[in-house]
Amino acid sequence: MTRTTYISDEYANEMNMAGIRYQQPPPISGPIKIDLIWCTYLHRPCSVCGAEIEKKSVVAESHWVRVCENCLLYGDQIDEILARHASRIEEKAKAIRAMIGRLQVPTYKAWREEQDRHDAYHQGIPVEEVREKRQRAREEHDKRLRESLPREWLDKYDLLTDQGRKDFLASRKEAGLKIDPATAEVIMTWAGMMDPYGIWGDDIEDNIDRAWFACAPGSDIWVEFHDLPEETRKALEGKPVANADELKALFETLENCEAVVEGDTVTFLNTEEELRDDYERRLREKGIKPLKDPPF
Ligand SMILES: [Zn+2]
Repeated sequence: MTRTTYISDEYANEMNMAGIRYQQPPPISGPIKIDLIWCTYLHRPCSVCGAEIEKKSVVAESHWVRVCENCLLYGDQIDEILARHASRIEEKAKAIRAMIGRLQVPTYKAWREEQDRHDAYHQGIPVEEVREKRQRAREEHDKRLRESLPREWLDKYDLLTDQGRKDFLASRKEAGLKIDPATAEVIMTWAGMMDPYGIWGDDIEDNIDRAWFACAPGSDIWVEFHDLPEETRKALEGKPVANADELKALFETLENCEAVVEGDTVTFLNTEEELRDDYERRLREKGIKPLKDPPF
């Protein structure tokens, strides 16, 4: 008599597909049912206790909510664990907010000079030589940046100076004030979170993520959502994007990338997280060009 139970391909396929059905936020009210799924991708912390958990092959998850096995072990205390986790985050937010108006920071110039002394020491060269090297790198950087920015922007703003960038950003905010959510056009693309217009070039080490831009009819100024008045932003959130077809086409040009595009919601299927970052980088590179009146 055999005692080994083999698992069928049908069962495995079903379990592998289970996670894909839940790529959306949890319902606003009512119970949130968590399933067991065979995990082929994504690494996320436990939504209940907040712990960073190792990637497991089987996870309890649905609707972006993941429950680690430790929390399953204490399943009868899940609400207490949730409450503790929430108040920890609230305390952290309070501590961050309490710093507003109280931070006394060194100047950028002071940091720069200290960095030069550090580099001079470690490279065994005079501080002056460090500065010269930096100056040459600066010129190279500015040349690359100038080549990457739209002509119209450079004609209007001196984007290689702090003042020029300030003027540029002020003009986005000003255009944002004139945007009427009822008539505005919205697009989604990939952009740096700190520098969504790309005006700092490599000066900012940025996380690339999805970003939304709005534009008033007849205007050619695309305003990133965070530069909009809060009310306008809220009214525009979830508005269908005008470049949905382009986004879809974009994904079709990427090899080995399985993704479902619905409106501006992109769901990566069987991809590892590192690959995902790479896709997003490539998408940003590609995504910039097909857009009408490109914001970059
Ligand atoms: Zn947990």
